[in-house]
Amino acid sequence: MVFALIGNQNSGKTTLFNQLTGSSQHVGNFPGVTVEKKEGVLRKNKGASIVDLPGIYSLSPYTSEEVVTRDFLLKGRPDCIINIIDATNIERNLYLTLQLIELEMPMVIALNMMDEVRANGNSIYVDKLSSELGVSVVPISASKNEGVDELAETAIKVARAHKPPQRLDFCSGDVHRAIHSVCHIIEDHAQRINVPVRFAATKLIEGDEPMLSSLELSQNEIDIIGHVVDEMETNLGTDREAALADMRYEYIENLCKTCVKKVNSTTKEQIRSEKIDKVLTSKYFAIPIFLCIMVFGFWLTFGPVGGTLSNLFSLGIEKFTGLLDALLVKADVAPALKSLIIDGICAGVGSVLSFLPTIVVLFFFLSILEDTGYMARIAFVMDKLLRKIGLSGRSFVPMLIGFGCSVPAIMATRTLSSERDRKMTILLTPFISCSAKLPIYAIFTKVFFPDQAVLVMSLLYGGGIVVGIIVANILSRTKFKGKPIPFVMELPSYRFPSFKNVILHMWEKAKDFIVKAFTIIFMATIVIWFLQNFNYKFALVSDTSESMLAAIGKFISPLFAPLGFSSWKSVTALITGLTAKEAVISTFRVLLESAGAFETALRSEFASVASVISFLTFTLLYMPCVATMAAIKRELNSTLKAAEMMVWQTGIAWICAFLVYRVALLFI
Ligand code: GDP
Ligand code: MG
Repeated sequence: MVFALIGNQNSGKTTLFNQLTGSSQHVGNFPGVTVEKKEGVLRKNKGASIVDLPGIYSLSPYTSEEVVTRDFLLKGRPDCIINIIDATNIERNLYLTLQLIELEMPMVIALNMMDEVRANGNSIYVDKLSSELGVSVVPISASKNEGVDELAETAIKVARAHKPPQRLDFCSGDVHRAIHSVCHIIEDHAQRINVPVRFAATKLIEGDEPMLSSLELSQNEIDIIGHVVDEMETNLGTDREAALADMRYEYIENLCKTCVKKVNSTTKEQIRSEKIDKVLTSKYFAIPIFLCIMVFGFWLTFGPVGGTLSNLFSLGIEKFTGLLDALLVKADVAPALKSLIIDGICAGVGSVLSFLPTIVVLFFFLSILEDTGYMARIAFVMDKLLRKIGLSGRSFVPMLIGFGCSVPAIMATRTLSSERDRKMTILLTPFISCSAKLPIYAIFTKVFFPDQAVLVMSLLYGGGIVVGIIVANILSRTKFKGKPIPFVMELPSYRFPSFKNVILHMWEKAKDFIVKAFTIIFMATIVIWFLQNFNYKFALVSDTSESMLAAIGKFISPLFAPLGFSSWKSVTALITGLTAKEAVISTFRVLLESAGAFETALRSEFASVASVISFLTFTLLYMPCVATMAAIKRELNSTLKAAEMMVWQTGIAWICAFLVYRVALLFI
């Protein structure tokens, strides 16, 4: 048995999905969090699976996630639709419900957020709503786990009975006539491709291209439908899409008049949100406040909290390494193997792992901002600025996710409905510093700029954004001429961040990070250790500068000489960084450990502060890691375009590092 979970964005789908399946998918008070469908097994009934789909507002495919959902419904044919409705926004949510009913599939409505409805003194006559719509309605509160079991039981019952909605006709007047005429014309075609007739008819009247072509109508039939639609448009004096929207909203309005009892027309949450928004999104203060909050976040992450925790954590790792070292000496292990374990694996993996606390603090901060609903506001505030560089506020969401990791960020561009905006955003996301680069910045600032840590960090993060802006500006004037599409996003109410969500989010990131440290970084350190200890004849070398790695590094390093850093060690670090950016640090660690104290060794790798700045600039901007490259290739659907992007991104990095180096030499 397959259930499809469908509802507007931010209606609580993922929260419900997690409750039903016991899994822990990412929940955010932020439209557009779920972009791919996710599957899970019902906790109470292992034979039933649930698919969490991206949030949508209608079944007209405007954005690619709407396409995902619609295709899943029409082709995947789930046994039952669970339509989740945000009861505090019932009018708008029912708009989708009316379209889902036309699919004539078994369906249950989950009336979510009933806790907020109750808290506001409002009520909804559930039985009445259910009999009017001809669909079972179960009031629930997903986040409080109320009514979830009843919902699951009802859904199973409805699916077993194969009971489609009991009522189809919500139309009236001219639209009614048009729908029914079209139904008669296309009935046989719709049956042939196994699409519900009424659904096909309303889509045709809305002017839905994919539906028109899949029905394979004759020219004559298309003409007749055209006349029917013309007639309807002239009679109503509106265009086809508006006519259907008006019809649906008129019905919903009447339905809500009888089924919803509102004491307060605006909820407490909405009033509170409005008050908060007066300050946080005001014309002059919005951006300064945002910047202050971000700097505060960085200060928290790299300063007192995150920094201290990371230091403690790395002390622990050092202790562990020391113990292991003593143990290996005692066990009389061969020196080469001991070197591999201590100087290779422990040093490499440990150097990356010690940043775990910093990453967790960063995501604690970001997930609070997201969960409260503040990030959605920032997307709005940023819309104006982004428009200046040819993007819309929609692009802000993927870019923000890019601070975590570019891979989900690039996937999140699927929420952009215009191909132009989408491609541009994909090209820009790698300029946002992902959390994997954080260990690199953190170590370099600790060694070279211990007193200006927050400043240097902010400059690095800001620098990536500035370069991104410049590139976007150039792109929108040349390759991607045109205007970004208008930005409409529903603003969620401010909510108190849920402890569970924040912890889950942090755990998710921590898990990714740990897994990466023990897989990619682990492998990379072993390879690096091997390459630096053996020469081409596979003989152990006593001096690493005679190793294979040194030969490779020395071969490439002239390319970097104009940038002020040409030691073969820094060059190899950059290359291993392509597997995962954290590997830059683990490589340095493996290569420099034998030279004594790491920090002094790192200092001696760079001729001047200017060359350090240049190295950081290059690290900030050069081509992304393989996982990101693969994601870009997948989303752009072209290996050539992805390769092209890698080349010019590295080119930009080189030029920027060169300029920064030359300027820095003048001043320092
Ligand atoms: P999705 O976008 O539809 O997947 O929605 P999410 O599951 O990500 O939830 C959106 C927001 O609504 C989150 O901040 C949740 O904590 C919140 N939320 C979900 N269900 C409820 C509920 O029953 N009551 C209240 N008050 N908040 C809820
Ligand atoms: Mg979701």
